[in-house]
Amino acid sequence: MQEPSWIASLPRLPKPHNRLPVTATALSKTVADPIRAICLAFRNRCACCGCAMRDPVYRVWVDGVARNSYPGDVWTSTGIGPLHKSCAIYSAIHCPYMKYPTSVRRLQDGSPRGHAIITGHRRHGLYFHSEPISGWAGHAWSHCYVDAVESIHFETWRDLIPAYEDAITEKVDVSTRLFWHTPNARPTGKTRFTAPESPELDKLWRHDSYRLNHLRGTASIWVGDRLQRIALL
Ligand SMILES: [Zn+2]
Repeated sequence: MQEPSWIASLPRLPKPHNRLPVTATALSKTVADPIRAICLAFRNRCACCGCAMRDPVYRVWVDGVARNSYPGDVWTSTGIGPLHKSCAIYSAIHCPYMKYPTSVRRLQDGSPRGHAIITGHRRHGLYFHSEPISGWAGHAWSHCYVDAVESIHFETWRDLIPAYEDAITEKVDVSTRLFWHTPNARPTGKTRFTAPESPELDKLWRHDSYRLNHLRGTASIWVGDRLQRIALL
């Protein structure tokens, strides 16, 4: 299957998963790093390829991931953030966990994938929680998505092939890429996953941590008839 230039140019995971790309959000292999996730989301860069996005932005949702929440108009999740449509569909086609309803999360809790959907949203942002989220390095925010404009249900990865072939015709500017690949990094500490880090990422995070704290103190938005602690980006 054809890979567009913005995915083909990403580094690959070690064997035996060396056909899969390392995403811009990943710390080392596949562990999602909240610091990278924030730095990408604040700059409207795709969480997979690291390149600039226009709206709508996309995300893959599966029943088997407990931290996904989509009870109504506001969709929230930790982990990887907003994506290009092509990158979201690529992930769903190639990620072993997303391919089939019966796929299981072998490296984590063993839960089956279940129902799956890809959604497109006009706006994305951060949803602030009152308590740190378990397994998210002490952070108390998740990505959030509002104003859904498209939903693509799929049973297996094969259902996505026509949508993928259409999506990879989009224009993505690879020169806008943000990517900090640190192959030997390991999760350490409660609030940072990584040490040592790239100087470029450290510089961005020093700025972004102030912005994050400011948004936490000021975020609130009406969604329907409920006031929610959301900062749209
Ligand atoms: Zn992308």
